[in-house]
Amino acid sequence: MVQSRRVALVTGSTSGIGLAIAHKFASMGHDVALNGIESDADVAGIVQELNGLGDGRVVYFGADLADQAASEALADTVIAKFGRIDLLVNNAGIQKVAPIEEFPTGDWNRIVAVSLDSAFHAIRSALPGMVERGWGRIINIASAHGLRASPFKSAYVATKHAVVGLTRTVALEAAEKGVTVNAICPGYVWTPLVAAQVKDQARVHGLSEEEVVRKVMLAPQPTRQFVQPEEIAELAAYLCSDWARSITGSTISIDGGWTAK
Ligand code: NAD
Repeated sequence: MVQSRRVALVTGSTSGIGLAIAHKFASMGHDVALNGIESDADVAGIVQELNGLGDGRVVYFGADLADQAASEALADTVIAKFGRIDLLVNNAGIQKVAPIEEFPTGDWNRIVAVSLDSAFHAIRSALPGMVERGWGRIINIASAHGLRASPFKSAYVATKHAVVGLTRTVALEAAEKGVTVNAICPGYVWTPLVAAQVKDQARVHGLSEEEVVRKVMLAPQPTRQFVQPEEIAELAAYLCSDWARSITGSTISIDGGWTAK
């Protein structure tokens, strides 16, 4: 099946999983709106590289999604630039590891805003155009922690479970309109987000950093290896294809068998 050129917004796409998805979409010839909290200068190299991959345009839209006004405006700004959004990947996410009694309220609010509220705002902006055109794809990057809990990650686990609920609800609302809405639920993927939490995990679990990788991160994944960001990008590309039109409201695990247990 020939894949048409689409307009994609991938939030949190200057690093890790989001960058891999943006890379894949750009190489497929789609127009890609990148997003992150870095300055234009910091991401100039990424923008240049991705622009060289296909015929589509790749443009960076810096926006701090913890800021409600910026979050509400992002998808509208992308639509103003590209005319529409066909593929929306709500990927931006942050982590904080701490026991609940020590969990800072500011971190709780920031995690909810970046991972959950931003998806709500972007979907509200992007969905009406998709419905009008009778075609659209929304992918929310949830987590194995959208389906299972782990200690010391109250905000992250609560938020990812909520992202799964949002996914299912919007999928039902859009089901007859040619728009699919799914959640990808990765296990541990080696990205800066994961690397940055090793120290805190070591502290709260009383382990060395090497033990955190082996006993906390890879222990729940029966494959005993990290998922690669490119594996998630390939899955996202499939979900955005016409062949995936009957997959909606799904949580798709890509977790090395974690949630099989
Ligand atoms: P990462 O730290 O490599 O990248 C995070 C991206 O989000 C960056 O582009 C950053 O600029 C952006 N970002 C951070 N704060 C932002 C903000 N306030 N506003 C806008 N953008 C912001 O992270 P990653 O590991 O690639 O994670 C991406 C998504 O995948 C997250 O939602 C995360 O929860 C989810 N996830 C990751 C793993 C994993 O093991 N890495 C597992 C399951 C789910």
